Parts: sequence; structure tokens; C-alpha cells
Amino acid sequence: MNHYVSHLEAAIDGTVLPFGQLANMHNARPIWVRYHLDQIKTAVTPAQIATRAPSLWRYRELLPLPLDEAPVTLGEGMTPLLHCARLGTQLGLSQLFVKDESQLPTGSFKSRGMAAAVSMAKWLGVKRVALPTAGNAGGAAAAYAARAGLECFVFMPHDTPVVNQFEAQLYGAKAFRVNGLINDCGKIVKDGAERMGWFDLSTLKEPYRLEGKKTMGLELAEQMQWELPDVIFYPTGGGTGLIGMWKAFAELKELGWLRGGEFPRLISCQAEGCAPIVRAFEKGERFADLFPNAHTVASGLRVPVAVGDFMMLDAIRASGGKAAAGSESKIGAWMQRASSAEGISVCPETAVCFDVLERMIAAGEVKPDERVVVFNTGAAPKYLEAMPYALPALDKDRVDWDAIVRA
Ligand SMILES: *Cc1c(COP(=O)(O)O)cnc(C)c1O
Repeated sequence: MNHYVSHLEAAIDGTVLPFGQLANMHNARPIWVRYHLDQIKTAVTPAQIATRAPSLWRYRELLPLPLDEAPVTLGEGMTPLLHCARLGTQLGLSQLFVKDESQLPTGSFKSRGMAAAVSMAKWLGVKRVALPTAGNAGGAAAAYAARAGLECFVFMPHDTPVVNQFEAQLYGAKAFRVNGLINDCGKIVKDGAERMGWFDLSTLKEPYRLEGKKTMGLELAEQMQWELPDVIFYPTGGGTGLIGMWKAFAELKELGWLRGGEFPRLISCQAEGCAPIVRAFEKGERFADLFPNAHTVASGLRVPVAVGDFMMLDAIRASGGKAAAGSESKIGAWMQRASSAEGISVCPETAVCFDVLERMIAAGEVKPDERVVVFNTGAAPKYLEAMPYALPALDKDRVDWDAIVRA
């Protein structure tokens, strides 16, 4: 046997589906990948994994690509887990960590999902892929499609950050701006499947982006010596990151690799201008209504409706965590404050997490000595529109030294 996948499983009703052929959704809902964890347990140990190259492919047995297939890779994974003592002190936390995903190929954690999904699509014979994007997924898909030699079509809202528009084209995708939101772009991808013969790579509409995102949870566990933190702050859009991490923790527990029994509380952070999961969480519901008039500068969070809503809400509730919204008006200030305190390039989505974190500390919902991990999912320079910058000008012939001293 050259992989450890046992089967695919419909998330909504547990229907067992075969592995090894193209799959999108089941009853319009996502599909889980299930593994023979008992066999993985005897095939590999954490000590062996520790000797492997620092990429997400070090968890090869826990990924769906057959072991004898070469992955489509740009060297993604094993991002640093940075202790943030200065920012932690400002916030009143002794153990604040940032998992810095901004250092990944194409500057966001979307590369994890695309490495897995494009590798699987290529293995299964796909020649052309398409997806809607709120921004970063399009750039990552374009890059991995280029690496794999696949054709890629990307559909994005007309007001997607300019860097995302540029990068999709830079990596050779056929990219389009649509006068609507990501769900409108998703409809174009769905409607074009037959006529264009493309494979739909939308978030959670194929099973493997989730497996790539799962590696955030595997890395976090390994970097914390297999003892999970107390609380995780994660900026949530379509939900693959949150759901993937929760899946990772469950698999690691089953493998018996975790020290300490507790799972972290998951805090799903959204921007107040687009907070469907927060709304559903607060109403005690398992499915989220479409969030009307979605708008936020944290473009990765502008997902008004998500097919994996119930998977997010189940994970958040099972963890004892919550979904909470951060203020739109604090995004620029938090990007600046967190980036300048630690030298980490903090994206607007993660700025939202810091606002939620600060409020939860004030409310006593996060304790000063708890181990807190915030995911920095993307790189700040991708968001020119969100950056509150204005540099004073200097005349080279009459340098204003007073201005420099006062700066
Ligand atoms: C896509 C994205 C998110 C949201 O991630 P999901 O896994 O879809 O919930 C958060 N931050 C950034 C920078 C993103 O690109």
C-alpha cells in the first residue's frame, strides 16, 4: 500500500465515499479524508518525523498523496512559532506566540492548501483548475498550478486587493474581476464546470485543501513538543484553517502522540463587517445565514456564506472556545502595533485577532499565564489598501534635521 487513506467521508451525514477518484462535495457539503491511523501509528514515530526536511511534507503519512508520487511543492511549511515577549507584556500575557504564516510561498497560508490540492488534482489527471477567491487563494492556486503545469482560472471580487489581482496574472492564471462577492465568483466556477471542463478548487468544495491546512495543527503540536496550547486565535473566512487544525488535533490524539489531554479553545475571529459565524455562534445555531452587505478591509475574511459553517461551529463549540468579531476601525492600528512590536508582518485578518484577544483579556476570558497562539495568516505588504502609512518627504539639498530628530 502506498498511502494510508482508508476512505472519504461526507461531513454532513457520514456517507462513505471511495478514495482515488475526483471528488467535490456530497449533498452540497464538504468531504473529510479518513486515514488508517492504527497503521500510521506503527509506520512512523514523532522522533522519525523530527529528522525530516522542514516542509509540510514531513507529515507524509498523514497526507493523502501516495508516497511514491512527487508532490507539487514550493518548499511550503514549517513556519516559525515565534514567542512574542514584548507584545505579550503590553497585553499582559507571559506566553504569547505567533505562528507566522506570512513567510510561506505567495505570502499566505493558502499555499498549504494549494500544495495539497494541486498535488492531488495533478495525480488524479486534472489539466485545468478554477476557483473563486477573496484574494490570497487565487495567487496561491496560480503559483501551484504553474508549478504543476496546469491551467488555472481565477475569479475575484472587483475590489480585491491589487496585489492579489496582480499575482494571479503574474503566475500565469486567467484571472477575472467580478462585480460581486466571493459567492458570486463561486457560482461562475460552478456554472462553468461542464462547459470549461475545469476542476473546482473552491474552499472546502474538494477534500484536499483542508488536508494541507491541517498541517498548521501538526506543526504547532510538534513545535510545542506535542503539548497543545491553551487557546488559539484564528482569523476565519471559509474555515479551512480552523477545521483543519481541529482535525489535526483529533488525529494526533488518536495516534497517541499528544502529551497532556486537553485540546485548545478555538477562538474564531471575524471582522464585524462580515461575521456570519459569530452571528450563528451567538444564536446557538449550527448553520450560518448569508451575512448581508459583507465589507471589510480584511479581505480574507470577506466570506458571507461558507459550505463548512457547521464544521467550524462544531469545532468551536467542542473546543469550549467561541466566535467573536473585531472592529473594522482598529485593523490598521493593530497591524502597525503588532508589526512594530515584534518585526512580524501582520496582515489585516490577524489584526482582527489581536483586537478580539485584547478584549478577551480585559474580560478575564484569557488568563495572563495561558499559552496563547495567534496565527498570522498572511503578509502585510499584500494589502496596500489597508496600510495607514504616510512618509514625510525630505529635500536632499536642505535636509530638515529637526524633522528627523522629532520623528
Ligand atoms: C483565506 C484567509 C483567511 C481565512 O482563512 P480560512 O481558512 O478560509 O478561514 C485568513 N487570513 C488570510 C490572510 C487569508 O488569506
